[in-house]
Amino acid sequence: MIITRKKFLQVTGISVLAVAGERFAHSFARAIQDAPVASRQALTARRWAMAVDLNKCAQNKGCTKCINACHSVHNVPKSGDWPHRIEWIWEDSFRNAFPSQENEYQAAALRDTQVPLFCNHCDNPPCVRVCPTQATWRRQDGIVMMDWHRCIGCRYCMAACPYGSRSFNWTDPRPHLAHQDPNFPTRTKGVVEKCNFCEERLARGEWPACVVACPQEAMIFGDLGDRNSRVRQLLQSRYAIRRKPELGTKPEVFYFV
Ligand code: SF4
Repeated sequence: MIITRKKFLQVTGISVLAVAGERFAHSFARAIQDAPVASRQALTARRWAMAVDLNKCAQNKGCTKCINACHSVHNVPKSGDWPHRIEWIWEDSFRNAFPSQENEYQAAALRDTQVPLFCNHCDNPPCVRVCPTQATWRRQDGIVMMDWHRCIGCRYCMAACPYGSRSFNWTDPRPHLAHQDPNFPTRTKGVVEKCNFCEERLARGEWPACVVACPQEAMIFGDLGDRNSRVRQLLQSRYAIRRKPELGTKPEVFYFV
């Protein structure tokens, strides 16, 4: 049988396409199969936000479980005095956290309440605008992220953040780790870090470590874009304040007082 050149190319072309198609389907199936199960159960939101009930914090004076849990799962070293201290969550008095809210008749209990503070994952984050390498950026779901491989340690983001939410590794943090959680990367000297709303846990289908650790359930995390979420419903029924809202950064961490 004589096969013309055209016929030959048609037959071999179809075979090549069939083989390539089969390989693609195979590798696609492998990729789906190999994908971590947790990533298929990831918690997602239109706009993640946190609310902290300061009345509950006040009932449990001296509690630092949220801080301990956060710093433990994120390999935050326990060392150093300011400015060498690394903090993803820290505490300060109400009067320092909300200076514009203070008045001379304020209940002493509220004035002295220790307020858990962390990155506000602002809707209009000045830290993101000033980063020259885009090592920090805002995700669609509102989480303000950090890429330590892109961070050049210029600290512009720290200067721009009006909340002091970022820490700088002046020295190698690794020797100062009490223990190392293998599920989260350690950092190096010369990079900035901060709270990430536990994005790695959300991706595994787990709630933020601070939320889980709080014995008072004082930290409420959820989707502001979902009108049925607990955080949204609480914000609609209770009075909440934010830190320095007058700056226009639109913090997405709320405090019930
Ligand atoms: Fe950026 Fe500071 Fe706002 Fe966090 S609190 S998003 S670090 S400006």
